[in-house]
Amino acid sequence: MSSDKDIRPDEGGLVTAFGGGAQQNTPAVSAAGFTDVLNLPSGTNVYSFNKPLPSAPFKLPSLGRMYPGRNVPETIRLDSMTTRQLLILNTPALWSNDEVFPMILRECVKGLPSGFDVTELYPDDYNAILIALRMVSFGRKYEVRVKCPKITCQHEYPHTVDLEADFDVTYLDEKKKVQIPIEIKPEWLREGKRVLVRPITWKQDMEIDARDEWRKKNMDRDPTKMHESEKFFLNQRIMDELETGIVEVEGIGNNSAVVQQWLMELNANDASIIRQMMNKYKFGVKNTFAPKACPSCGEKFTTTLPISFDFFRATLPEAALE
Ligand SMILES: [Zn+2]
Repeated sequence: MSSDKDIRPDEGGLVTAFGGGAQQNTPAVSAAGFTDVLNLPSGTNVYSFNKPLPSAPFKLPSLGRMYPGRNVPETIRLDSMTTRQLLILNTPALWSNDEVFPMILRECVKGLPSGFDVTELYPDDYNAILIALRMVSFGRKYEVRVKCPKITCQHEYPHTVDLEADFDVTYLDEKKKVQIPIEIKPEWLREGKRVLVRPITWKQDMEIDARDEWRKKNMDRDPTKMHESEKFFLNQRIMDELETGIVEVEGIGNNSAVVQQWLMELNANDASIIRQMMNKYKFGVKNTFAPKACPSCGEKFTTTLPISFDFFRATLPEAALE
């Protein structure tokens, strides 16, 4: 739900999993590691990579408190993936993260209330669940190939990510009073209007992504040769986010033409305040890590965790490769 959640597959290109693929992004945070998340008796090293778990409790970063009226619990249960889910992963007709991961989560996530789909989770909860499911099913070690970002180097080398050590979960502040929709008081905006907003769900985020992709594909021309209105059209992601997140303005629903027209002419200050308020509640798991320094030039850098189909793959013990 962060406003910088704009990392797209093939952008940056610092890291590819062996299979390559899409990346997910969540705000950079720091708190307890996943061992704490799973609330296991101390001293249990369940993430030893040759000992996946059959099932484990998982505390949602939002503590379930961000879904008022939906009865989402604080702690859900993750069932380890079976061959059945591997089959889903390997069904080419479903080869899109938007479809495959929800299918798998619907089977492996236990404890969400009936009538609540995993796609209604906020991206921060959703992404944390994906990482935890990977750990429960295959252990904490995940091999990636990293590419040195130094222009003169670009060396590619393998790195093993430790999902337990490298990715911290931030929980919603327990003391924080959660109110959704989130109210933006008239005095906070130059426009002086009362605006109600909601954080964007994973499903809405995917819909915005799809519209964005469509625009990029259909507008794949030299921007210098574009008409001004076309360039504007290309950058409508912010508008999509506002349209999706705004519940009402002065009591008028967001699907009304009045609100849409209002948004088009809204001053940048207020647009920025509204977007920040949509992301007011902070929780989630960071998606960046610092790999070992480049063996070729010594460069140190941080990069993004690739969560693609290849993310759900066991890591062979080194001895198995001898
Ligand atoms: Zn290098």
